[in-house]
Amino acid sequence: MTNIDELEHVKCLIIGSGPAGYTAAIYAARADLKPVVYTGIVPGGQLTQTTEVDNFPGYPQGVTGPVLMEDLKAQAERFGTEVRFGYATKVAFSQDKGTHKVQIDGSKWILAETVIIATGATAKWLGLPSEEKYNGFGVSACAVCDGFFFKGQDVAIVGAGDTAAEEATYLAKLCRKVYMLVRRDEFRASKAMVHRVMNTANIEVLYNTETQEIVGNEQGVNGVRVINNRTKEEKVLDVTGFFVAIGHKPNTELFQGILEMDETGYLITKADSTATNIPGIFACGDVQDHVYRQAITAAGTGCMAALEAERYLAAKESGE
Ligand code: NDP
Repeated sequence: MTNIDELEHVKCLIIGSGPAGYTAAIYAARADLKPVVYTGIVPGGQLTQTTEVDNFPGYPQGVTGPVLMEDLKAQAERFGTEVRFGYATKVAFSQDKGTHKVQIDGSKWILAETVIIATGATAKWLGLPSEEKYNGFGVSACAVCDGFFFKGQDVAIVGAGDTAAEEATYLAKLCRKVYMLVRRDEFRASKAMVHRVMNTANIEVLYNTETQEIVGNEQGVNGVRVINNRTKEEKVLDVTGFFVAIGHKPNTELFQGILEMDETGYLITKADSTATNIPGIFACGDVQDHVYRQAITAAGTGCMAALEAERYLAAKESGE
């Protein structure tokens, strides 16, 4: 490591650039904490991979995910936030209200008085070898990113939550036919989303259906073998695209053994707070929320994290 005196030293380092990270940045910048945001590999986070967002307050006509994120970024920058493309690769947190260290892109270390973790969550996969084999060759976890490649073709999507329902209706606009593979006999998605699926003529919902294998050749996917878990009937659906929409896992590998987390990896914050078990380290957004997982709740906790960081610094400076 470089001599500690030569390292950049910031008051507030924000890791992640979704609604939580940028909202934290807006508040931290306005409190004169001169925040630095490291975007991670997906600047703007999960919302950049979605289409219409109709439930973010302040947009009566709706807004697209990428535009919403550009707006949040511009608002954070307007107050002096420095947004940098980079990925946190290691952390060395001080246990006793000291200065924390975060390594960026495997090389550069930064000193930070407070760190706001807003690293979000990432799509889950089924875990089938064939899913991995054909990832990028017909298998995708993002209909909005990759649906275009399957224009006029038949595809399948696995999952029964709001994401799967939203992506199925998105794909239905591009594709000839969409099979929706639901493992139980009912959806998890909200009634409004289920209604939308049911009213889309080219979506066929297959209940009690599990994916056994994705089949294909050197050209990519050409089918998916499914089984009805009640009747045990097996069949192959002729599809060229296979989309996975079965939820997300929090991006917390970096903090394993360092910060308290639950059994599924979500960071644990103190009640009614974004404080983690280490003083000066705060967590907001999907990385600590497996209940609501909405852009607006992520933004709300981002605001809390910045206010708490500001109060923590004020108390530290006054010797409390
Ligand atoms: P969810 O956790 O809500 O749903 C995951 C779905 O995948 C469930 O139906 C689950 O089945 C299914 N599933 C999980 N594992 C497997 C597996 N191995 N094989 C087959 N199916 C599987 O995740 P979502 O990403 O859909 O949604 C996350 C959150 O984001 C939710 O709170 C949702 O409301 C919200 N959201 C809101 C949107 C909006 O308002 N526009 C859009 C998208 C998401 P089972 O039901 O059997 O457990």
